Amino acid sequence: MPKEKLLFAASEVYPFAKSGGLADVAHSLPRALNAVYDIHVVMPLYRFIERERFGIVSLGISFDIEMGGHFYPVELYGCRYEGVEYRFIYAALLCDRDFIYGPPESGYADNALRFALFNYAMLALLKEERYALAHLNDWQSALLPLLIKEEENLATKTVFTIHNLAYQGVFERSVLREIGIPSKYFTLSALEFYGKVNFMKAGIAYADAVTTVSPTYAKEILTAEYGCGLEGFLAEHKEKLFGILNGIDSEHFSPSKDTLLLIPYDDMRGKAVNKRAYLEMVDLQGLHTPLFIFIGRFNWQKGLDLFMESLDWIASQRCNIAILGEGEMKYHKALEEISDKHGNIHLEFGYDEVLSHQMYAAADFFLMPSLFEPCGLAQMIAMNYGQMPVVHEVGGLADTVFDHRSFQKNSTRGYGITFRTASPGALQHAVSEALELYSNMERYNEIATHNMHCDFSWKESAKAYLALYTKIIEEENHG
Ligand code: ADP
Repeated sequence: MPKEKLLFAASEVYPFAKSGGLADVAHSLPRALNAVYDIHVVMPLYRFIERERFGIVSLGISFDIEMGGHFYPVELYGCRYEGVEYRFIYAALLCDRDFIYGPPESGYADNALRFALFNYAMLALLKEERYALAHLNDWQSALLPLLIKEEENLATKTVFTIHNLAYQGVFERSVLREIGIPSKYFTLSALEFYGKVNFMKAGIAYADAVTTVSPTYAKEILTAEYGCGLEGFLAEHKEKLFGILNGIDSEHFSPSKDTLLLIPYDDMRGKAVNKRAYLEMVDLQGLHTPLFIFIGRFNWQKGLDLFMESLDWIASQRCNIAILGEGEMKYHKALEEISDKHGNIHLEFGYDEVLSHQMYAAADFFLMPSLFEPCGLAQMIAMNYGQMPVVHEVGGLADTVFDHRSFQKNSTRGYGITFRTASPGALQHAVSEALELYSNMERYNEIATHNMHCDFSWKESAKAYLALYTKIIEEENHG
């Protein structure tokens, strides 16, 4: 029997376009599901995507989309990459930009129109070919369940995944007309959100199932502290809300197969070779000095304020610190000021895939003091590269990093240093604990080696998604 078709939609997919973990998930989850479904991953063909490098070609299909009384020409492109079929949507309005969402610290003013167009284009795909299910991710593809509902003869079922509730796609009421959504949807039970229009609410209200990326975050978002104003709305839909933990791509993020490293490794000795090479490269001293790293977006979510307030103190301890990231200017400036004062801090601005792998391989501890963390991939990558993460116990961090004091040899869990309160004092206390642990090399090596062999792949979570898809599709057949 031919496999059923599944459309998997995201605004960013690694390696074509990436700003964060969504791109990693949209790359690795479809690969894990591809044996069961005929998956088509769909994303915008931003103009910075290297078409030749990936063999992206026109499919010879073009059409106009009517949205709010205007016509927008759309062309379809495609390629096959790592055994998965990709469909790219090209529309000038959506794609002719230098950034995915906008320059740092701001979104493009017409993002509502851009991504509404993306949803209409996907609707056109669904009308053209039969897809059993569309799996949508974050606000940029959240309108599709509503658009499907407006179609009489479209049976495609939908799963909507929230990767980060802090980004909901909230726009002025006037965009409704521009994107051709009937004003009957401007109600509390649909898109209305404090007088504005909220795209994410469409996904939550009309998808057949809503998932988020860890079991703990699925509970947290029902509370005022983490619900970003949608806690009540989510509670109304909680029968169809599930937390499924993200996995990491165990091919791409495996120290024993990683071609970006000086030498691939699967033990602490091989790791030390990479650490030495990295320290030399960035001019830090001390192979046996603990190396803490931070890789990520510089914004409040990632706990940058906590980190900044503690950094002077951390740097005054016997350790090295390496930081890689980009984001808000105020953090760039503050980080620069602090690191200028300390010879044991190496700071690098920018997004650098190769360097990030070298840092994962070199470091002993990964700092992740996030205020909230839907899932987080970096801590799992760090553990598989033989580190112990230092994490604030929230969201996916609480589901993936267990405190070293509860370490058990035979456990399948990963271990690190965890702290409960988001305060500089708690972070500093956790760093002290890390330093103490490192002074007992035998213990440190035992736990770090254990982490290296933990399975954070998609194996289990892919099963959970497949079970959910089957349930929804069967509901259709019986319903
Ligand atoms: P988020 O999606 O919230 O940004 P995650 O931990 O889920 O955070 O995923 C972040 C991913 O992006 C990881 O793969 C991490 O290694 C990578 N990453 C983040 N910042 C950078 C950077 N400056 N350079 C290279 N990789 C980065």
